[in-house]
Amino acid sequence: MRTYKYEFSHQSNRIMLGNLIDDMHSVHLHLLRLQRRYYRIYGKSASLSRILKHIKKLKQTTKRHWYQLPSQMIQDVAIRINLAYQRFFDNIEERRLGKTKRKVGKPKIKPPHKYKSVTFTQAGYKIEGNRLTINCLDKSFTFWKYREWTGTLKKVTIKRDNVGDYYLHLTCEDYEPSEKLPLTGNEAGADFGCKTFLTLSDGTKIASPEFYKEGLTALRSANKALSRKQYLSNGWYRAKRYLSRIHKKIADSRRDWFFKLALRLVRKYDKIAIETLNLEGMKKLWGRKVSDIAFGEFSLILQWMCAKYSKTFLKAGRWVATTKPCSDCGYCNENLSLSDRQWICPDCGSDHDRDVNAAKNILQVGVPAS
Ligand SMILES: [Zn+2]
Repeated sequence: MRTYKYEFSHQSNRIMLGNLIDDMHSVHLHLLRLQRRYYRIYGKSASLSRILKHIKKLKQTTKRHWYQLPSQMIQDVAIRINLAYQRFFDNIEERRLGKTKRKVGKPKIKPPHKYKSVTFTQAGYKIEGNRLTINCLDKSFTFWKYREWTGTLKKVTIKRDNVGDYYLHLTCEDYEPSEKLPLTGNEAGADFGCKTFLTLSDGTKIASPEFYKEGLTALRSANKALSRKQYLSNGWYRAKRYLSRIHKKIADSRRDWFFKLALRLVRKYDKIAIETLNLEGMKKLWGRKVSDIAFGEFSLILQWMCAKYSKTFLKAGRWVATTKPCSDCGYCNENLSLSDRQWICPDCGSDHDRDVNAAKNILQVGVPAS
């Protein structure tokens, strides 16, 4: 599966798509309230087939205007709600059996600004060139087609983000495999760190970009402005969009940097090993800084990039020690403290840089990632 993302750029199109999403939100409201009532009375959710039958009846009686909406989308709203209830019930069962401690809440009614996407699965639309036609609206929407998609189209989703931009997501199956890069014979282990983003086993160090820190002042003032506004008022929406724009800009520039770095690594090395991260634990330990560096996002991008260009991607297990053992002789240096950047192995006498040594160990113990 692969998803292509295109932006809708005409303002008149965006307004119509926004109205469509808002209309689907009203369907969501109605169906979710219905399910909640059902749950209150019977202690379970109504089945999908029952809801679909009910929608048919609603269309003939009180909700005649639903005929103006794509019926596939309405169906999809019902499917999403049923899935959410299914997860809720499954979770109760799992917790009863002691399989998990995580709690999944009862499906919540979303406020309009959090309702962000509508989906077609099979019918009701047509795509020709750079135009998406929605049959029941009898209207075409132009998107900016900066590249072709390949494979069979499985799902068409229209999404609105927090900034108020609209995107077309095309999910395709059996897309054509990508080009191959020449093999170079190099391999590297990589150790994540706070000051240096990546330390490679051959001694290369890559400094961390701090996009979040740069935008922090702007974020703080935008957050303050938002908190002064009255919830869901016009001014609140304006302030919220402004805040989202700053967040989006930071996330975009970070992702861009990640992709470029991953491509650089994949071009240079045939085999790349990284450590498995315990992100939740790291966040608790170090705070915002880790979310800034976003190791998790980068390792996913790197894994994807390796798969794309047929290079080997390895992961060191979470419980394997990589810092303390000497990468030359295996001697485990128990006295190593967090502040020791350099150390000399008492057994074989090698002079180690802490991070480079860890990167070498990661390369040694790495196993193919699932
Ligand atoms: Zn040694």
